[in-house]
Amino acid sequence: MFTIVIIELFTFVNMRNGTILYSDFIRLYSGFKELELNGRYITYSHIEKPFQRLSSKFRTTIIGQSTLGVPIKSIFVGSGKIKILAWSQMHGNESTTTKAVFDLLNGFYQYEGNDFLKNIMERCTLQIIPMLNPDGAKAYTRENANKTDLNRDAKKMTEIESQLLRSEFDRFQPDFCFNLHGQRTIFSAGDQPIPATLSFLTPAMDQARTITASRIKSMRVIAAIVKDLQEFLPKQIGRYDDAFNDNCTGDSFQSLFVPTILFEAGHYKGDYQREKTREFVVAAMFSGLNAIASGAYNDLEFQDYFEIPENKKLFYDVILRDVKLNDQITDVAIQFKEVLTNNKIEFVPIIEKIAPNLSFYGHKEIDCGKKKVSLEGQKPLGENVLVSNIILNNEVLAINCENN
Ligand SMILES: [Zn+2]
Repeated sequence: MFTIVIIELFTFVNMRNGTILYSDFIRLYSGFKELELNGRYITYSHIEKPFQRLSSKFRTTIIGQSTLGVPIKSIFVGSGKIKILAWSQMHGNESTTTKAVFDLLNGFYQYEGNDFLKNIMERCTLQIIPMLNPDGAKAYTRENANKTDLNRDAKKMTEIESQLLRSEFDRFQPDFCFNLHGQRTIFSAGDQPIPATLSFLTPAMDQARTITASRIKSMRVIAAIVKDLQEFLPKQIGRYDDAFNDNCTGDSFQSLFVPTILFEAGHYKGDYQREKTREFVVAAMFSGLNAIASGAYNDLEFQDYFEIPENKKLFYDVILRDVKLNDQITDVAIQFKEVLTNNKIEFVPIIEKIAPNLSFYGHKEIDCGKKKVSLEGQKPLGENVLVSNIILNNEVLAINCENN
């Protein structure tokens, strides 16, 4: 209650000054969160209703059909000169940015008259493809129905979904691209035990990773986003390796001189459903749009981009420390495998590595005090073994993402 009063007070003060600031708009999030979409399993049938509602206000198109004949849709917002093309769920099991895209669109739907948004809508035209790979979304796979990774198909373009994205790119001729993805829980932001809740990349456009004018633009936009997000997500933002791969969509669009920004939605402590991360993605997208619309990104140094810590693979979901196994003391690293069961994603704990003094971090670490650990049913502890429950000191400990 108190927070709401504060938010309204803030908003009122800023409205009197004629503008609502970015951070005040983001604080209105609960008013524009798309409540129809939740959790990790987001398919075409989930987005149909919210899309329908949005289409009463915004222009929409069907850009084509997926390999299995599911419509691939796009939606347009704003009428400004700067064109921004965004697409989400090109990898079917990366649903967080799709939830965020609907929150963003809902923001424009609910708060149309808001001057923060009006500024974006007057200066920019957005074309958003919320689900590029609906077949992969249904099967909860990275690939499309032909088992092709669409983000490695930019050159060959064997797949209908890649061809459709490219034809929208050619038709719309964007000034910026937002390439929206999700990343696994293994990533840290730099060397610290801090998960990379968000990561960014401006893809290279050649093997030498030359810093070209269009890359500089996207570096500045990313720097603007990171600056805005520090308030909400201090130090939890990483930067992806920019090795050039012209089979990747981002690299290919960048090499056509269109500043392209890769967004990666990652892990936030305890948030396996990615509901918290989703908020940060929305905040990041609004920040990027605001920086582009206002031109504020031009004032930033592109070198700030290189100050963002690099993504490292330093995390496991769970680490059991100091386990006694075959008369030796060792660590056991467990990773959750995402499995689609009865239209829900289950997080199945699997042992990935057994070794002494693992120099990794666990999102959850359990100190086993050099005692023996056993598994239910006398199963031996070994790599690739499923570990729903462990028995430590005659006590059963459940290994699942709810208590992580
Ligand atoms: Zn991806």
